[in-house]
Formats: sequence, structure tokens, C-alpha cells
Amino acid sequence: MSKKIIVIGSGFSSLSASCYLAKAGFEVAIYEKNPTVGGRARQFKESGFTFDMGPSWYWMPDIFDKFFSDFDKKTSDYYHLDKLDPAYKIFFTDEQLTIGDSLDKICVEFERIEPGSSVHLKKFISKAETNYDIAINKVVLRPGLSPLELVTPETIMRVDQFFKTISGEVRKKFKNPKLVSTLEFPVLFLGAKPSQTPSFYSFMNYADFGLGTWHPKGGMYEIIRAMHNLAKELGVEIHTDSPVEKITTINGVTNGIVINGNQIVADAVLSGADYHHSESLLDPKERQYSEAYWKDKVFAPSSLLFYIGFNKKLSNVEHHNLFFDTDFEKHAKEIYDNPSWPQDPLFYANFPSVTDQSMAPEGCETGFFLIPIAPGLEDSAELRDQYYDIVIDRFERITGQSVKGNILFKRSFCVNDFIGEYNSYKGNAYGMANTLTQTAFLRPKLMSSKVKNLFFTGQLTVPGPGVPPALISGKLVSDLIMKNLK
Ligand SMILES: Cc1cc2nc3c(=O)[nH]c(=O)nc-3n(C[C@H](O)[C@H](O)[C@H](O)COP(=O)(O)OP(=O)(O)OC[C@H]3O[C@@H](n4cnc5c(N)ncnc54)[C@H](O)[C@@H]3O)c2cc1C
Repeated sequence: MSKKIIVIGSGFSSLSASCYLAKAGFEVAIYEKNPTVGGRARQFKESGFTFDMGPSWYWMPDIFDKFFSDFDKKTSDYYHLDKLDPAYKIFFTDEQLTIGDSLDKICVEFERIEPGSSVHLKKFISKAETNYDIAINKVVLRPGLSPLELVTPETIMRVDQFFKTISGEVRKKFKNPKLVSTLEFPVLFLGAKPSQTPSFYSFMNYADFGLGTWHPKGGMYEIIRAMHNLAKELGVEIHTDSPVEKITTINGVTNGIVINGNQIVADAVLSGADYHHSESLLDPKERQYSEAYWKDKVFAPSSLLFYIGFNKKLSNVEHHNLFFDTDFEKHAKEIYDNPSWPQDPLFYANFPSVTDQSMAPEGCETGFFLIPIAPGLEDSAELRDQYYDIVIDRFERITGQSVKGNILFKRSFCVNDFIGEYNSYKGNAYGMANTLTQTAFLRPKLMSSKVKNLFFTGQLTVPGPGVPPALISGKLVSDLIMKNLK
């Protein structure tokens, strides 16, 4: 008889692990607290508008290709991908920078801002490409069990890049603050300040300028739909509206979970819910990490989000837009050093219907505005309204159009929703940051050291935040489960 594994949650990491485990012959059952699968990548539809609730940047297409090819499938078996051109636009106080779909186009834009900068850019991206190859093929695919995993001939030769920061590296070569902000942007996906992120992570710049920004037609939820279908094809049982109340153990070995007071037995439990919450489902003596441990960690930001349906097409915007028209350093301090609501926030606006009309009714625009904020901040209707006005006013002024009277639909999402909907620690949006001291073997472990046959996956463990890492996390933990349950 095959062994049974219970998977808690249905985010990218849980779906990924479930597919690998089912393919290996385990009996797999997912239990998800929310009514739909997908976790932070859920989607909702309202009055003809389609809103991806979380991720919107499809980066590192090779990781998605690799995932589906492990099941003898292709992404095109499930969804249609377009490479975006421009990839995105950045609004600064006095001008705009457009990032095209090739390094050559981006070099022309860099030259326009800082003559001579394209020579440095080509060298920087070439080094970033080498780092990408090492990171993806040599480092990231390790389970974070030992420091020795980081020691490869390639990383030894580049050990200095783990102690220099991306911020320092960029500033050495580029003087114009707009180019500096542009090159520091990709590492924000790792959840920490560029001044705290090792320069080895410049591989994110290769993901950005080298591999490009893609869009699955119909939205990011198409990837979840694809993985959900694949999981079902592989025989995974999926239960939604099923909040797990407890992970049960007998003599230090897990034997299942409790839902609605009912015990469901299994040979192993894998949790893809936020790690801190997952351990709270155990008795205190069975937890590996204390409250003090979590409190001490650098978390990725939370976010204040607005999902907005406009009754007209907007002008002067692209699919992805960054509003870097205020002081990034100040906002970063308000996120990481002195957690408080930002006085003058940077924000991101996503209008997928600019390139994919299927996401909005004819002649309308689907909008998603995101302000990164410190996790754990006070969240109230008044604060949300206040920041809605700030963002919409700035948006109108910078893009030169009025939109306030064109809003058909508006919904917000913030710290309290991240906690209520996902059991997120302090309402973090995308997990625990990848800093030097929170990388690889220094992150919370995939396998419990206190409870046998209990495993963890997702953005708080290895390799870290983001959709591609979540897919990899699912693969890493499933390999570990296969090894341990044989
Ligand atoms: C606003 C936002 C924007 C983002 N933008 C990008 C982007 O553009 N590109 C990118 O690559 N990444 C982005 N990310 C990050 C990316 O979405 C996440 O890293 C990834 O989706 C995390 O997947 P996960 O499986 O680790 O966790 P989750 O998606 O959080 O899945 C955990 C699941 O566990 C469930 N759960 C929790 N407690 C229980 C319980 N007791 N019982 C049952 N189920 C439970 C939750 O409901 C959830 O479904 C973004 C995230 C957010 C929030």
C-alpha cells in the first residue's frame, strides 16, 4: 500500500510538492483553509474584471519550464505566454525610463540617461548571467541542510560577492540615481534592502534584463490553474474550505492532522502554510523555533493593495509601472529600520489589461496598486483610505490624467487580510527576506528536527520568497520526503 502524505495549504510550494510526491507514488491529500486554491496567488473576478491578488511578475521562465518538463509537460500545454515589450516603465520625478524586451534596447535607454553607462551595464549583466547559472544550477537546488552545500568551486571563486552588497556594487559603476534605483529594483523581490543583499544576488538582474518579463494570458492564476490540473491528473486529492487546527503526533512522530475536530491520519505531514503558523499547530515542546527567533528575523514587507476596475482605458501607462518619484532610502527605512507608515511611499501599479484585454471588460482597465509597508503595522479603514488618496492623487498627477471619477470597483487588502486569509506572520506579504544571515542553511529547515515525518515548504524556508523559489521549494522538500520515507 502506498504511504499517505497530508499537505497543508495550496500555494505554489504545496502544489509543486504534491505533484512531485504523487508522481513518486505517494497518496497525497491537500487541505486548504480558503475556498479556492492558490494561496497568495489567488484571483478574483468582479463585474467582468479579473484581479490576480498577489504575484504579477512572471520572471525566470526557465524555472516554470523545468517544473512542467519534470512531468513530461510544457507550459504551453496549459497556458499561453507573451513576452512583454516594454517589460515595464519607471516613473521618476522629472522623467520616465522604459525597460524594453532586450538588453540592446535597455542599453539605448541607459545611454540616454547616463552616457557611457551601457558598457558597464553589459559587463554587469554578463556577470549576473554567470551568477544566475551558478545560483540556479549549483546552489538553489540544495535542501539547506548544511553550510557545505554553498561550497562549490564556483562559489569559492566568488566568495567576495557574498560579503559585498548589491547596493555597493551598483553604485561603483553607475552614478545616476535613476539607474541605481533601476538596478536595485530586482533584488527587492528577495525581501530585503539592496544594502543588505549580497551582490551575488545580481542574478536577479539577469532574470530582469536577460530573461525578460512574461505574462500568462488570463493572468498569473493560469499557472495555479495549470498546477491544480496537473495535481488532479496525478491523483492528488484536494480539499478546500479545510482549515487545519492541529498537527498530531504520537511519541514524537506525526500521525496526521485535525480538521473540524476530526482526526485525519497520514504517514507524513507537509505544511506549505507560513512556517510560524505551521509550528503553532504543534504542542509548544514540539516547535523548533521560539517566538524570539521569529521576532529577530528580517521579514519581507507586507503590502497595502488596491484592486481597481476603471471604466475607461488609461493613458501613459504600461502593463507594469513603478512609481519611484519619491525617496527610496526613506521609504526603505520606514519598512526595515523604523517600522512605520511611509510618509511618501513608492508604489507599483499593474494594468494587465493594457496587454491582455481578456482581463477587463471592453474599453475598461484592470488596476492593481501596491505600496510595500513594514509587516505588523496597525491596519485600519482610515489608514487605507488615507493612502488610497495619496496614491490616486500621485498617479493622476504623474501620468497626467484624471481617474477618480472613472472607478467602477475598488477593494483593498492589507496586514489584517494577510493574517486573516493566510495565517501570515505579522501580515508579511512574501515571507522571510533573503539576507546573508538568512540564506540557504541559515533559513528555517525543510524537515522538523523535533517531530519525525513532519516537513515544511514555502517562502519562509529554502530557497526563499517568490513564485519560482516556491516551485523549487516544493521539489526540494519532496526529494527529502522520498529519501526519509523510503
Ligand atoms: C502582493 C504580492 C505580490 C507578489 N508579487 C510577486 C511577483 O510579482 N512575482 C513573484 O514571483 N512572486 C511574487 N510574490 C510572492 C509569491 O506570491 C509568493 O512567494 C508565493 O506565492 C508563496 O507561495 P507559498 O506556497 O510559499 O505560500 P502561500 O501562497 O501563502 O500558500 C500557503 C497556503 O496555506 C494556506 N493555509 C494557511 N494556514 C492554513 C491552515 N491552518 N490550514 C490549511 N491551509 C492553510 C493558506 O491559505 C495558503 O493558501 C508576491 C506576493 C504577494 C503577496
